Amino acid sequence: MIVLKFGGSSVADAEGIRRASAIVAAARHRRPVVVVSALGGVTDLLLAATAAAGRDDLAGQEAAMAGIERRHRWASSACLDDAASRQDVEMVLADTFDEMKLLLRSIRTLGELSPRAADAVLACGELLSSRLLTAALKGAGVDATWVDPRKVVITDGSHGSATPDLARMAGSVKTEVLSLVEKGQVPVIGGFVGSSPGGVTTTLGRGGGDTTAAVIGAAGGAEELQIWTDVDGLMTADPRLAADATCLGRVSFAEASEMASFGAKVLHPASVSPAVSASIPVRVLNSRNPEFEGTVVLPHSDPSRLGVVSLASRTGLTAVFLEADRGMEGALFRRRAMDLQEPPGPLPELIQVSAVGAVAVFRDSDAAAVHAGRWDRLGKVRTVDGVGMVAAVGEALRNDAALTGEVCRELGALHPMVLGAGGAALSVYALFPQAGLETVVSRLHRRFFQEVTRT
Ligand code: ADP
Ligand code: ASP
Ligand code: MG
Repeated sequence: MIVLKFGGSSVADAEGIRRASAIVAAARHRRPVVVVSALGGVTDLLLAATAAAGRDDLAGQEAAMAGIERRHRWASSACLDDAASRQDVEMVLADTFDEMKLLLRSIRTLGELSPRAADAVLACGELLSSRLLTAALKGAGVDATWVDPRKVVITDGSHGSATPDLARMAGSVKTEVLSLVEKGQVPVIGGFVGSSPGGVTTTLGRGGGDTTAAVIGAAGGAEELQIWTDVDGLMTADPRLAADATCLGRVSFAEASEMASFGAKVLHPASVSPAVSASIPVRVLNSRNPEFEGTVVLPHSDPSRLGVVSLASRTGLTAVFLEADRGMEGALFRRRAMDLQEPPGPLPELIQVSAVGAVAVFRDSDAAAVHAGRWDRLGKVRTVDGVGMVAAVGEALRNDAALTGEVCRELGALHPMVLGAGGAALSVYALFPQAGLETVVSRLHRRFFQEVTRT
């Protein structure tokens, strides 16, 4: 069995859905299980609809819902050739739209957008796209069967960022997914969606379709996990920031994890480790260029690879800086600054603490504000929004101090707000104002991948 996951960028419209169907049809002999994200852009529209309902903005909610309905109706009429199957799908779509409107109305009536209600609405993106893809696959002659992700992906109850419980999923993957594969059918499952042990719908966090694919692959003993996206594979940098980025043929699991955690959006960070633990090879492929071999993520490092492998980057971060109160003893300051447990607080993406100061970086400004409140007791706190992070990643950085020094020098020359490296880490990272991040990434890319001869 292999798992094929199609991201929203691969199924943004009817043409994309047709391309995905052809890819699955061609992989039929490998016993595929298909995981699919919401049509590209639909999760953003769903977020807009729930936020509008939460502030009782009926016009805003209706505008977002109209966009969602239009996208799915267009896609169904353009990718399903058979009138009867189109009618069947349109009935299912209409039922889901009605259900969504009921949910949004109850959010407006209660005047409160709870994480649980938000998940019930957000899940609809994948529930809809998976229905469309199932019908398109049948139209392409594939014996596809729609599977409800809420019966397969059992998670904890953390709405909005739920964690799948692999131990509990062994049984559900066997009965709901593998049983179909055994019968020669192709199961089609919406990614990103699960349910708590109590049966309440949850979602796995943005980009969580990759995680669904990885946990289904791990629980079902897949031979391979294929992540189909809109670029040729993992690249030397985000191609939107460095136009001359090139595709990497191979990276190690450790490099892929580090790239994902520093923002190379093409793989969700939580999707790498289940595949590693189950020793499942991961391949990143381009649904617009399916003949291209893409990137293979290997369990081990490639000793012939020297130097930096990729530049990962992300924006939209908030940094909290802390300058210790004079007179506070260094060891005591360090202990208090690093204590994120008493009381449990938001987890930073990154934290650096010395005897006299510290910095913590957060994905959202509310979490940063909570953290700033905790640190306020230890000294002078300064919060900076609009922060971008760039990390140079490569296994070679683990052991090669000279290379680490060289990378630090290059990053340092660009005057970062913070620079960090070392230890067993296979990355050197730096924080910059996000407005200048594109320039930083393209300059570093030129420096590491063009001026220096790669080996
Ligand atoms: P999908 O809809 O398939 O899940 P995503 O938008 O989540 O796609 O991820 C694919 C995008 O990731 C690409 O379009 C690319 O812009 C971005 N990206 C960021 N960093 C990298 C990188 N190092 N290699 C490849 N793509 C990257
Ligand atoms: N649809 C979700 C998102 O846009 C999950 C995913 O695409 O993986 O974040
Ligand atoms: Mg993605």
